[in-house]
Amino acid sequence: MLNLNQHPSGRHFLQIPGPSPVPDRILRALSLPTIDHRGPEFGALGLKLIAGLQQVFKTRHPVAIYPASGTGAWEAALVNTLSPGDAVLMVETGQFATLWQKMALRLGLEPEFIARPGIDAATGLPNAWRQGIPAELVEARLRADTGHAIRAVCVVHNETSTGVTSDIAALRRAIDAAGHPALLLVDTISGLASADYRHDEWGVDVTISGSQKGLMLPPGISFNALSPKALAANASARLPRSFWAWDEIVAMNRSGYWPYTPSTNLLYALHESLEMLLGEGLEAVFARHRRWAAGVRAAVDAWGLAVQCADPALYSPVLTGVVTPLGLDADALRQTIHQRFDLSLGTGLGKLKGRMFRIGHLGDSNDLTLIATLAGCEMGLQLHGVGLAGSGVAAAMAYFSEHSA
Ligand SMILES: *Cc1c(COP(=O)(O)O)cnc(C)c1O
Repeated sequence: MLNLNQHPSGRHFLQIPGPSPVPDRILRALSLPTIDHRGPEFGALGLKLIAGLQQVFKTRHPVAIYPASGTGAWEAALVNTLSPGDAVLMVETGQFATLWQKMALRLGLEPEFIARPGIDAATGLPNAWRQGIPAELVEARLRADTGHAIRAVCVVHNETSTGVTSDIAALRRAIDAAGHPALLLVDTISGLASADYRHDEWGVDVTISGSQKGLMLPPGISFNALSPKALAANASARLPRSFWAWDEIVAMNRSGYWPYTPSTNLLYALHESLEMLLGEGLEAVFARHRRWAAGVRAAVDAWGLAVQCADPALYSPVLTGVVTPLGLDADALRQTIHQRFDLSLGTGLGKLKGRMFRIGHLGDSNDLTLIATLAGCEMGLQLHGVGLAGSGVAAAMAYFSEHSA
């Protein structure tokens, strides 16, 4: 039985790649008294939040906030821009891309799901789940679509199931090279505010994100950043929508309000998060995550284990997937680590089930919490009899002390 009062002593190590550990400042902001969402203070808060989010998404255009998990914002992006039976091109990069594709099917769209072919010889895992979006395959498919039946290209920027990011600017260039008018819809639910992201510069039409990853909030709110082209598509898109409809939200947001009750206290938390992130500066935030990721990878290398991401140019700054040796069930390892050390690690999802675990290095972390996390992993691996090449903890300590922040 779950008994939250019998929590082990000390802080729980929530090192999954979302929800991420929430800073105390943000937890305190959440506990402020709820106010009238039609009152004057609320409008001022709403306007400030939207302006702050525009800085984070790097856009001059509207950003809609939903009282929903990231999945809701996926649905919002599709139903606001597309019509029943529309062809959409989606790219299999991992489990989140797969789930979004299933959603498109359920909504009555016709997704075509393309993937980088082949199986990686060293691990037996699909190449598509170890590498980024194959922009050349997208370009070839769009060139072949001479009638422009494909209405949108939908991709995941930071694939949280694998720890591989994709080069969205390169994908944009591929779409432009094909001379294709499809909309570009990008999920950066786990990338935003941890990995470099540029909605306007990269010509993205809808960017989808969520609260519980890089923004360091609890789960519960999510976002659609829009482009003028997305807003134009919205006017003729015929998929049914009401709760998700951009038109009312964007119109009311101009004065800082929402058509229905927003998540007031999560918006206080968002205000605090934006103060923290913009106060630090986004470039510094990205550098901090890259450094953490490099320290964690130094540990994985020292153990002699493989990182799930096979392309060093695309290592995620948010999480690292660790491939477990054949014969070791990664979920059994995770269970031991949770029971013995009160440390939560991400499970292997979909095609990676049992084959890998994921270490989140985002949210309210620092060098020492990450070293402790790696110590939990290392003890767990030893308890499962894995012959490690060396100490990952020592390697991470060396990395962090040699590379100052
Ligand atoms: C977390 C996540 C989702 C799902 O978001 P929910 O808040 O769980 O609905 C979708 N895509 C990516 C890339 C994610 O990391």
